[in-house]
Amino acid sequence: MYLCIQITTYLNVDYQKKLAIIGATGSIGTQTLDIVARHPEKYSVSVLIANTRVDTLIQLAIKHRPKLTIIADSTKYWKLKNELEPLGLECASGHEAICDAVSRDDIDMVVNATVGYSGLRPTLSAIDAGKDIALANKETLVVAGEIINQRLESSPSHLYPIDSEHSAIWQCLRGENPESVNRLIITASGGPFRQTSIDTLKKVSASDALQHPSWSMGAKITIDSATMLNKAFEIIEAYWLFNIPAHRIVPIVHPQSIVHSMVEFNDGSIKAQLGVPDMRLPIAYALGETVRLAGAERPLNFSEMSNLTFEEPDTERFPCINLAYHALEQRGNTACIINAANEIAVAAFLTGRIKFLDIYELIIKALEHIPYISTPTIEDYMECNSETRNFTENLIHSNY
Ligand code: MG
Repeated sequence: MYLCIQITTYLNVDYQKKLAIIGATGSIGTQTLDIVARHPEKYSVSVLIANTRVDTLIQLAIKHRPKLTIIADSTKYWKLKNELEPLGLECASGHEAICDAVSRDDIDMVVNATVGYSGLRPTLSAIDAGKDIALANKETLVVAGEIINQRLESSPSHLYPIDSEHSAIWQCLRGENPESVNRLIITASGGPFRQTSIDTLKKVSASDALQHPSWSMGAKITIDSATMLNKAFEIIEAYWLFNIPAHRIVPIVHPQSIVHSMVEFNDGSIKAQLGVPDMRLPIAYALGETVRLAGAERPLNFSEMSNLTFEEPDTERFPCINLAYHALEQRGNTACIINAANEIAVAAFLTGRIKFLDIYELIIKALEHIPYISTPTIEDYMECNSETRNFTENLIHSNY
């Protein structure tokens, strides 16, 4: 790590780092482009990739002029090509094209900011090609953390977290002896339903759940935040990133979202990282590979803060949190099943097909039904993912 930091410092002086951004039209993607635009001497965009939002992608490509622009949804390809090729901008579509693009010689770092399971394959391709990765796609580590870590061991790639909690822990751990770490304390805003009774939770709508109190994020992660499954995923993510036993990774509800997470050491000391809830801060820290760049729009103003509060999460109203410990105890394909069932359930909740509390019930049903595999391969994960999605979809369709 020390060597890496020295080289990075040198690179940041003399070298413009070339990025591939997956999920360029989303919340993290556009904020990454914001950081790039503020540091044109340090970063340029070689590849821009989006899933379906072709109009936004066209606008971003015209502004940033990448060497290659990719839309995952092939039905949108002709629109992209018709708009960009006359401007001399190359285009492609499909998931294979994404995996090829992140391996290109002219890429130094892949920013993986796509949502969901589909982020896994490009992460693996980037590691196999020896590219550094700034990772916002937490599902990559949730589903296949063990395989990702194995592949990182035999690759020159470095993986830097963009998730704000993990960026905070990374910052707190720097310069510390790993053996002196007692607990990782992951803060959670508590989401929009922190104080909502179980009876009301039975009736809440998607628009209620999309009103996040402190963070502005995409729809899927906002619903994950409302069920608090997002926090379960972050516990799993922390486990694979920092190699700390699961029972020593604990969540705490902190509604103000100012303390982004903490590390407790075995002398009783606790280090916390604080900042305004602005994802540009952890994005900039990952892009800079610990070299600090202008990130958040404004620093924290203590005189504007009346109080910082902390409370235990209520696992009776938010049972999804405990799925983290179940997944880390069982390992194998357990987290893959949880993630796949959740992706289908959240999509169904957003379109009003199921109720809020059904999300957890559907995950439990998938865990009961889908066969357990103790040491899955990547192919097993792919099969488990599609089998779980089909099972959950059918269950919703049959009005279970
Ligand atoms: Mg987070």
